[in-house]
Amino acid sequence: MTRERTAEQLDRAVGTLIASAAGDALGAGYEFSIPAPDAVIGMIGGGPFGFEPGEWTDDTSMSIAVAEAAAAREDLRSESGLDSVAAGFMRWFASEPKDIGNQTRTVLSANPTSADEMVAAAKRVVGLTGGNGSLMRTSPVALAHLDDEQACVAAALAVSDLTHSDLRAGQACQLWSYAIRHAVLFGSFDGVRMYLSGVDGEQRDYWTGILDAAETGSPSDFAKNGWVVHALQTAWWAISSTDDSSPDHLREALVQCVRAGNDTDTTAAIAGGLLGARWGATAVPEEWLDVLHGWPGLGPRDLESLALKAVQ
Ligand SMILES: [Mg+2]
Repeated sequence: MTRERTAEQLDRAVGTLIASAAGDALGAGYEFSIPAPDAVIGMIGGGPFGFEPGEWTDDTSMSIAVAEAAAAREDLRSESGLDSVAAGFMRWFASEPKDIGNQTRTVLSANPTSADEMVAAAKRVVGLTGGNGSLMRTSPVALAHLDDEQACVAAALAVSDLTHSDLRAGQACQLWSYAIRHAVLFGSFDGVRMYLSGVDGEQRDYWTGILDAAETGSPSDFAKNGWVVHALQTAWWAISSTDDSSPDHLREALVQCVRAGNDTDTTAAIAGGLLGARWGATAVPEEWLDVLHGWPGLGPRDLESLALKAVQ
């Protein structure tokens, strides 16, 4: 059963994809650096991978694989839904992307032909397994399962597991997807904390401490934001430390994310998913929309269309 959505909910569903892509493209020009305090943050492109101004990176290209499955009304917990996401990742990988995370590269290089094979390859990764590469693409999961909270949380873990076997990576995706779903439905950030009331004590204590530290700390306290936990903290720090009294919050918080430095495209993509879910696509600055684009030859209108197909 699909419920009627309000115009505000539809705007917020669309905002989820577009603001995440905008954060990604905004951060692309500053990746692996800390911008000077007086730098004007804009859609400049460049960065270590030479992106065009307004061009999104792997974060959004991988999100699109999830969004396309959502738009096809796949259940992202099912074999067919996960196979469809996995196939989308492999199509993107075959395009020889400029930028790809280490863990994701290792997993996709094993040439998995199904979701099961991809999960198995992810489990074989040795060394650091808690990269931010699954959190950066979790936003569309909320759109696939807007009517069912439990399904949303289960799907977030299943989609994360395709490339990231790490416990905290999976939990971060569950928390963030839950919060995005809540924001699309109700227009608030309350879902971030609300998620923790429904999980076991260890997980609740761990993430409560992580969120508290993000709200009271500064970016140097969570500077290793290639790690999923510090990436979530950087995003939540930017969201919770900027003025949220008007929709300008979306722009301000994304700029703050980039100012925090390091994996700027990814922290801003993560923050953008939640900010767009709260404030809607109408809060994304026009001058950003004018240049926003990326693999596979899409722009904001295409992201809008994917989001609407997923939730209507
Ligand atoms: Mg990237």
